[in-house]
Amino acid sequence: MTSTLTGSNAAWRARSLRAVWHPCTQMKAHGAPDGPQADSTPLIAIASAEGPWLVDVEGKRYLDGISSWWTNLFGHGHPAIRSALVDQLSRLDHTMLAGLTHAPVVELSERLAALTGLGHAFYASDGASATEIALKMSAHHWRNAGRPGKNRFVALQGGYHGETAGALGVTDIALFREAYAPLVRLSATVASPDARGAQGDETAADVAHRAARALEAWLAEHHAETAAFIVEPLVQCATGMAMHDPAYLREARALCDRYGVHLVVDEIAVGFGRTGTMFAHQQAGIRPDFICLSKGLTGGTLPLAAVLTTDAVYEGFYDDDAARGFLHSHSYTGNPLACRAALATLDIFERENVLAVNLERARMIDALLAPLHAHERVRNARRIGMIWAWDIADAPGNFARRYARHALAHGLLLRPIGSTLYAMPPYVLEEDTARHLADGALAALEATLAEAEPSLFDDERALP
Ligand SMILES: *Cc1c(COP(=O)(O)O)cnc(C)c1O
Repeated sequence: MTSTLTGSNAAWRARSLRAVWHPCTQMKAHGAPDGPQADSTPLIAIASAEGPWLVDVEGKRYLDGISSWWTNLFGHGHPAIRSALVDQLSRLDHTMLAGLTHAPVVELSERLAALTGLGHAFYASDGASATEIALKMSAHHWRNAGRPGKNRFVALQGGYHGETAGALGVTDIALFREAYAPLVRLSATVASPDARGAQGDETAADVAHRAARALEAWLAEHHAETAAFIVEPLVQCATGMAMHDPAYLREARALCDRYGVHLVVDEIAVGFGRTGTMFAHQQAGIRPDFICLSKGLTGGTLPLAAVLTTDAVYEGFYDDDAARGFLHSHSYTGNPLACRAALATLDIFERENVLAVNLERARMIDALLAPLHAHERVRNARRIGMIWAWDIADAPGNFARRYARHALAHGLLLRPIGSTLYAMPPYVLEEDTARHLADGALAALEATLAEAEPSLFDDERALP
């Protein structure tokens, strides 16, 4: 059976709603498969994509303002990544990585080591698996070191590290966790250094310092049971782009050293230049014990995740006894195609001097977004690198869903989280596409606010 990539949105919508269970979605919100398009939550059938544009089966174009869930870096269908994949496909599609190795995984590991100073790379296919691996490795490391009691974790309030049962243990977003509470071993959470928590004339660094005291107090009491502290460096994305001062990471590093606890930085969303540096933790000048990578790792083309760690952690597993090894695996660990996409992505960073170019690009986009920053209903307009966010005061009920619908009508894919609007575009916006983003984002806000008065019965809950 062949399928065509044409037809109507309505026809694909009906088939999709019958057969596909969509992620992060209350399926009923889409309406019945054969009924009309549910007004609040349209389902769009995408036929193709090029650069920052997604094109639906009816030819309508949408600017991908959130990089397809924070994965895409250099636009869709980037010719260099595409040709690397075609080349790799003609050589080696996939092979297992136990007992065998291959050039793409070796070269990628060497290059990630050179970029981070963490010389041992373990692979999986999704961010949540990277979290699982980092947590398991940390606890197993302490067990091998004769400290089996160090098997608990501490994380930040509002943190997000993925949604498998282990990762949910360190994810503090109630909506994702409530239903599975009996299945999950919850970690402790400590105060977030979110700069919006400033009191009086506190600076972001003051808030960071105060939050670090909470981590200190917790570690002082519980370090003997704690394997690792896990943190999203600089931006807690899924809770609504909560940003913090790099001073927090420096203090956390020092506290983890003092109390003998691993520091895991989850760079799954913020890695690969999103915050202006290649990796967010580099702005604090620290070296973590574990780095989790995924999302942008392949430029947004194929699923791949990596956990990088230190010689010290690695050596704790290196032994004659098999059971002291890290016996974790996934069938597609180190998939050659995904690794080639990642190598091509790193090549683009080097060849096109992306981080430097993005400095200018971000300034250009920022200037075009000035009317949104200044909008009377916007609070906490903020930006780091190529991530923008705005909190909407007195947001009407179902703000996120209503806004997303108006954005689509303006040819723009933007999905607020609760009452926080944000943009995380691919690094290819030029003046015209940036203007489309800025004008569309503002127009969609006006349309959403004009349509609905603030509601006391806000049933909207944060869904990215
Ligand atoms: C998206 C995300 C994850 C989970 O990655 P998946 O590939 O969706 O499993 C983990 N941590 C952070 C910070 C993320 O943004």
